[in-house]
Amino acid sequence: MDTNGIVAETTDTKGLLIVISGPSGAGKGTICQELLKQDPGLALSVSATTRKQGPQEVYGREYYFYTENAFQKTIDEDGFLEWAEVHGHRYGTLKDKVREIRESGKDCILEIDVQGGLQIAQKMDTSCVLLFVKAPSEEELLKRITGRQRESREEIKRRMMTAQWEMTQEEKYHYTIVNDHLADAVEHILEIIREERKANASTIHR
Ligand code: 5GP
Repeated sequence: MDTNGIVAETTDTKGLLIVISGPSGAGKGTICQELLKQDPGLALSVSATTRKQGPQEVYGREYYFYTENAFQKTIDEDGFLEWAEVHGHRYGTLKDKVREIRESGKDCILEIDVQGGLQIAQKMDTSCVLLFVKAPSEEELLKRITGRQRESREEIKRRMMTAQWEMTQEEKYHYTIVNDHLADAVEHILEIIREERKANASTIHR
């Protein structure tokens, strides 16, 4: 990871970098879709991944689906702002995508796992906002992961174990959002973003 790269990334450009992480099943994906619908000043940075493309997924919309070789090449060329192995596959935030969004004047959302969020937290400056999204309880999280019928029993077990570790990292984030009711969670985040924009604007103009 190139520290200089991320510092340049976060200080040379205007838009906020908004990291949304939290355990799988907490509802990050749905929340992000709602945020994008409700606030035209936001854009999502589409990540690269080595995991297989799902039947409903479109290259460049959900992810850029990379081969292991292409992913490794991007690491070697220092093309990722952060990357991590999540549930057995590699995922990474593409520096170019983030730069494009922030240079366009929009605020950039990263929907990434906790390992990635922590990498950004270590190198952040004032224009990074770290949001931790969680389900109201462990039981509810399990219900949500089981309910979407996407993962096998083994995979559910693995995701719940990862979630337990992720929950121990919550305090390293700036804000926690409990996703009990979607509309409330989205409104809470929009409010945070409005406040952070004001703070970011006063930093830039200082
Ligand atoms: P899924 O394969 O279910 O779409 O995503 C699995 C996990 O990978 C989710 O927790 C998602 O937030 C995370 N993820 C997606 N993109 C990135 C990324 O660029 N970096 C990191 N660190 N995690 C990511």
